[in-house]
Amino acid sequence: MYKILATDGMDQSGIDKLTALGYEVDVQFYEPEALGAALAGYDAVVVRSATKLRQPIIDEAAAAGRLKLIIRGGVGMDNIDVDYARGKGITVANTPAASSNAVAELALGHMFSVARYIGLANATMRQGKWDKKQYEGSELSGKTLGLIGVGRIGRALGQKAEALGMTVCCYDIIYGAQGGPAPSEAPFAFKSVDELLAASDYVSLHIPAAPKTLVDAEFLARMKDGAVLVNTARGKLIDEDALVAALNSGKLAGAALDVFAEEPCKNEKITTHPKISLTPHIAASTAEAQQRIGDEIVSIIREKLPN
Ligand code: NAD
Repeated sequence: MYKILATDGMDQSGIDKLTALGYEVDVQFYEPEALGAALAGYDAVVVRSATKLRQPIIDEAAAAGRLKLIIRGGVGMDNIDVDYARGKGITVANTPAASSNAVAELALGHMFSVARYIGLANATMRQGKWDKKQYEGSELSGKTLGLIGVGRIGRALGQKAEALGMTVCCYDIIYGAQGGPAPSEAPFAFKSVDELLAASDYVSLHIPAAPKTLVDAEFLARMKDGAVLVNTARGKLIDEDALVAALNSGKLAGAALDVFAEEPCKNEKITTHPKISLTPHIAASTAEAQQRIGDEIVSIIREKLPN
């Protein structure tokens, strides 16, 4: 019988389906020091973002010889040394499409929250305040949203924003690249990064983790005065000190962050900033997305480890 370890939890319906199909599933988090040895007893491991599968752990698991499959329930695989694992003969897969709608909806929720001070008004009312006059907001309808990255999530957000009456433009490295589609084939009006930053009231990031920071002081300076930056992609794409400076100077009107340079985020300049709408990396955390992720995990396991 194939044994599966889920280290960061897994939707119960997925566990039930696997069990009914004859797989044995254990749900247990291991500290990094203990994980390599634990993996010696499993054919597959399912992780989300909390578990990091780095080279020493992969080495230990590969030496034991049982682990055949690593599945990331979600999109970004920056918590796994993917090429290294594949080099050791271990298949690595993710569930890329399952959470796109959930992430797009959270990004949109954050945009409303910044535009109408929803988070801040909630917090101050709970302190007994009635700051009615301070919270004259603005509407999303009629504003321009610039998407950096128009893969699954960027597209989903752009469609929702258009339905709300926003104008949507985009930049994505794939368009105009050698062998890639033409910019005219982009799902929304294609612009250079400079053009997009100059035109957009909201700029939302939907690209993978990158070794280099994308949003630094110079990037922020090129944004429209009074614009809002939204990041549900990866925290290290942004220089958080530069973001705080741009908010404090009034260059940006607000920011919305679901992801942070360090998680959990302990940077109080970020966590206490009144102009930042915050959530603790929960963009994919909906019942529907977790169920879809569970279903995709079941399909991958059935395909790669048929009973
Ligand atoms: P995707 O692969 O469908 O789309 C990413 C797009 O970014 C691609 O079209 C690619 O060409 C483009 N791209 C890559 N590098 C770029 C760059 N430097 N500049 C411009 N475009 C670039 O991915 P997706 O499913 O839309 O997810 C986007 C990101 O969202 C993921 O990589 C992940 O890090 C993040 N994410 C976060 C959460 C969360 O819980 N907050 C959940 C899911 C995904």
